[in-house]
Amino acid sequence: MMHVAQVSKANGPFEIVERDVPEPGPNTVRVAVDACGVCHSDALVKTAGFPGMVLPRVPGHEVIGRIDAVGSGVDGWTIGQRVGVGWHGGYCGKCDPCRRGKFFACVTGPPITGISHDGGYGEHMIAPVSALARVPDGLSASDAAPLMCAGVTTFNALRNSGARSGDLVAVHGVGGLGHLGVQFAAKMGFHTVAVARGADKGPLALSLGADRYIDSTVEDPATALTAMGGARVVLATVTDADAMSAMIGGLGSEGSLLILGAPPAPLAVPAFPMIAGCRKIAGWYSGTSIDSEDTLAFCARTGVRSMNEVTPLAKVSEAYDRMMSGKARFRVVLNLGRE
Ligand SMILES: [Zn+2]
Ligand SMILES: [Zn+2]
Repeated sequence: MMHVAQVSKANGPFEIVERDVPEPGPNTVRVAVDACGVCHSDALVKTAGFPGMVLPRVPGHEVIGRIDAVGSGVDGWTIGQRVGVGWHGGYCGKCDPCRRGKFFACVTGPPITGISHDGGYGEHMIAPVSALARVPDGLSASDAAPLMCAGVTTFNALRNSGARSGDLVAVHGVGGLGHLGVQFAAKMGFHTVAVARGADKGPLALSLGADRYIDSTVEDPATALTAMGGARVVLATVTDADAMSAMIGGLGSEGSLLILGAPPAPLAVPAFPMIAGCRKIAGWYSGTSIDSEDTLAFCARTGVRSMNEVTPLAKVSEAYDRMMSGKARFRVVLNLGRE
């Protein structure tokens, strides 16, 4: 038997229940979970807010563990191997976007870890092999777990942003995503500016590698960035539409606002600066399993780490509430007590 934390009705409590340990089917493996991050997107399970959400469901898409059984047809993955499983739960390999190598855009309703099938809030889970990332020895499970979502999202957005070494990159927001974005931007060799509200985030942003901190409550970030030549990229991780829109004025010519945070309200976009400076606004999804693997390897090598509050599975309710409160510094991780 195994213990998992499930949600069985919309907005109901997490229930720690015993279930049979599942057997992996074709092209899947069973993962003995070591740690799983608690992410804001898990609210889509807690509230049954994801379209077509079927309950009960075990959330969790920031999973680090070890393969402890393999299904038929599995090649290249072995029992005992450390693996990570993120949001991207696999792809079909047959649809037109997949045939073009755009696995993130798979149109067949690809699996989503912890949404379409049970995720990592438990002792074991089943994962398709197309969702697996290798985990380097240099990262502990708790350190690695949030890198499977917040980490890969910021890392992959920055490395695909078109910014080159030395370019001015502003990371807007120093929270769950932003505190990783600042570290990645600095380690990638960008001229890194962190922007957030309040003086208290300043010393932290500088300690994470930012060259400069802009407190948006005392200084207009668009004016400050323009005075520095304008940002090549603004990595927008906040969830306030007005604050995000205000960053457009800080973009240099051909600069891009990359949207990672999801404000509930639409952005206001002034047309003239977009036209005159060939500026862009774009979104970025997180990444596929190989992107996660690249993220983990980069972090192991360069020392980029998520700042985490780690708790046992038994405290899942407190862990979730802490994450939802926005007060966690900065990610919350469930550790299954195996390592
Ligand atoms: Zn997530
Ligand atoms: Zn596909």
